[in-house]
Amino acid sequence: MTVGDGRMEAFRSEVGDSGAVCVRGGATRWGVGGGSAGAREVSAPVGIMALEPAEMTVMVGAGTTLTELAGELAVHGLEVGMDGPQGSTVGGALAVGRSALRRRRVGQIADVLLQADCVGADGVAFTAGGPTVKNVTGYDLCRLLVGSLGTLALVGRVILRTRPVPVCSVWLAGEVEPDLVLEATYRPASVLWDGARTSVLLEGHGADVDQMVETLARLGLAAAEPPVLAPGRGRWSGLLPDGGVLEVGAGVVHQPDDSGPPIVSEGVLNLAARMRASFDPSGRLNPGRDPYSRAA
Ligand SMILES: Cc1cc2nc3c(=O)[nH]c(=O)nc-3n(C[C@H](O)[C@H](O)[C@H](O)COP(=O)(O)OP(=O)(O)OC[C@H]3O[C@@H](n4cnc5c(N)ncnc54)[C@H](O)[C@@H]3O)c2cc1C
Repeated sequence: MTVGDGRMEAFRSEVGDSGAVCVRGGATRWGVGGGSAGAREVSAPVGIMALEPAEMTVMVGAGTTLTELAGELAVHGLEVGMDGPQGSTVGGALAVGRSALRRRRVGQIADVLLQADCVGADGVAFTAGGPTVKNVTGYDLCRLLVGSLGTLALVGRVILRTRPVPVCSVWLAGEVEPDLVLEATYRPASVLWDGARTSVLLEGHGADVDQMVETLARLGLAAAEPPVLAPGRGRWSGLLPDGGVLEVGAGVVHQPDDSGPPIVSEGVLNLAARMRASFDPSGRLNPGRDPYSRAA
């Protein structure tokens, strides 16, 4: 893939090698993990740099909005398995690390990222991962970066795995146990349960989807609008809070307010602190944020 522009070099130079700094994306989740604590804000490069439909990959500036990327990919019948509110950027979605609601079909967000061109705390550019799917030797740095809230490195450009947009897509809902819905369907994109009603998103080729719709109709499910989910998140503990909706199979509960931070063992917290200190000894990357202090 050829890039041939100076956008990464300009980003590296903007990040520099001293002073507290963070990337501001669409700021749709700006307070996450503690906020920016007055760190200098920089922007990641914007734009699609190389689209390789045959390779099913796209190279894109991390500051590009998910909407712009989706629009460009749709022309080729492709998409990436990422989601976020209006205005959110590729880099922000990766740094926050929430998987899409359709994760049962499109996969976890960590699986979308093949390569990340970053600037480290020392102001030096480095590349994690590689442009092809089977590329990892040694530690998988791309996976570390997803969900790290920009505390390990600042991401300027990425190569993402793309996938075909499903030909057919339909939401159904009914007062049926989610287990029955799972037994009756093949790879539903999403299964949601509000304690009484199960909603399911079916995607795929028309004939396959039609067949599953018929099967589910016999169980009592009918076509429905996509469910509107509350903005907060929590971990499934076996009980649904008021107004909560369980993302079945993901262990995530969409609820009116975020739950508190997840319980993480002391050993993991110690390891994470050592890792952060080794990536960023002077503590200049997103100093106000702690990926472990936020809701699930
Ligand atoms: C189905 C779904 C629904 C969602 N709904 C919501 C919702 O309703 N509300 C919500 O707030 N979120 C939601 N999210 C999470 C969403 O993915 C993120 O909020 C959003 O994508 C963050 O993008 P942003 O550009 O606005 O990031 P920002 O808010 O700008 O930044 C968030 C964090 O990422 C860091 N960051 C940004 N860009 C980079 C970069 N290039 N390199 C390193 N670090 C970087 C920032 O420094 C900060 O720590 C949802 C996600 C999914 C999958």
